[in-house]
Amino acid sequence: ATKKQYESLTEEQAITYAKNLNLFSDDAQLTCSEIGDGNLNYVFHIKDLRSGKGIILKQALPYAKVVGESWPLTLKRALIEANALKKHGEFAAGLVPEVYAIDEELAITVMEDLSHLTIAREGLIRLESYPKLAADIGKYLAQTLFHTSDFALHPFEKKKLVSEYSNPELCKITEDLIFTDPFFDHETNDFEPSLRVEVEALWNNELLKLEVAKLKKSFLTEAEALLHGDLHTGSIFASETETKVIDPEFAFYGPIGFDVGLFLANLIVQTVTREGEQREVILRHIEQTWEVFSANFSELWENKAVESYKDTKGFKDYILDKIFQDALGFAGCELIRRTIGLAHVKDLDGIKEDEKRILSKKQALRIGELLLLKRESISSIQAVIVLLEELQ
Ligand code: ADP
Ligand code: MG
Ligand code: MG
Ligand code: MG
Repeated sequence: ATKKQYESLTEEQAITYAKNLNLFSDDAQLTCSEIGDGNLNYVFHIKDLRSGKGIILKQALPYAKVVGESWPLTLKRALIEANALKKHGEFAAGLVPEVYAIDEELAITVMEDLSHLTIAREGLIRLESYPKLAADIGKYLAQTLFHTSDFALHPFEKKKLVSEYSNPELCKITEDLIFTDPFFDHETNDFEPSLRVEVEALWNNELLKLEVAKLKKSFLTEAEALLHGDLHTGSIFASETETKVIDPEFAFYGPIGFDVGLFLANLIVQTVTREGEQREVILRHIEQTWEVFSANFSELWENKAVESYKDTKGFKDYILDKIFQDALGFAGCELIRRTIGLAHVKDLDGIKEDEKRILSKKQALRIGELLLLKRESISSIQAVIVLLEELQ
């Protein structure tokens, strides 16, 4: 067969492509609509009007578009995303979409249609209830991160995976947008004028910047486990009964606390927008995420760890404490960058009332700062909850 040349598909071409996959019957009546945000990737939703069955074709675009600007971005991320979905699916069965086909040349992943679910961020903003979300993500984190780490793998196998998931261009985006730009007066930053005093205080806070520098170094150097790499609530589909994690195009070998911290930060963003009982619900999610993660991780350690030091007194607790403190620091970075950096979140920007929006953003910045500065003295998830309650 001749090697295919990359081209981005039209909706028509996506239908033809889908027909050739043999996933639909011959008499299928396929329709297609492109439902992505169009910044980095196309997401084609293909549906058979006869059977109601659907599939998703996600195609990477060779550039990233942000505020009118466009820069080249490797297509290799599509293969990394597809492989990460499969790898994580081995350990967190049912918590990621099934991958039906991978096309490296066209940078396409064909996967399970999850249109019956809601993107967690959207649902949370509407105060929908997701009783399984925290426990499912706690489990997803423990299973995927433990099983891809040196605690579970032979060092040869682990290092092979480290090289397979080398993802420098996508990592660079994180290095710049999460760990660098928000902490300097950089042109990519984007914040409301009413926040200028708080933002300049961050830029001048040397102790804070030292903590961020340490976390950036950890992100750059600690190849602990195969991370999702972008685990915010916009990368999670949810309902009352199901949770599915999508979009691991930033996957690479990095520090375990990064995935944990990003998810926690995106829950914390919800707490600053809520009051009373609704706020309580999210505080319980935060607590449960960590509790399920640490219990599950401990259990895997007891039963499956291959590391020679696994039974050495204190080692498991040392590892879990480090993950916890890293997670709080990464959460701090995420809170700050989602408020004043390039990519904001609808949870905050969507608040229509000016006074409430500014107050929520100031709280997000304040919590981010406290997590970064105090992470080493915060000894439990309950202490995080207390800190969040005190700041209300
Ligand atoms: P990007 O990397 O461009 O952010 P995502 O993988 O997050 O792409 O997908 C963008 C949007 O496309 C999602 O927010 C969701 O609405 C839709 N989408 C992605 N994957 C699926 C899926 N498997 N089933 C249904 N909709 C999906
Ligand atoms: Mg998107
Ligand atoms: Mg996405
Ligand atoms: Mg993405």
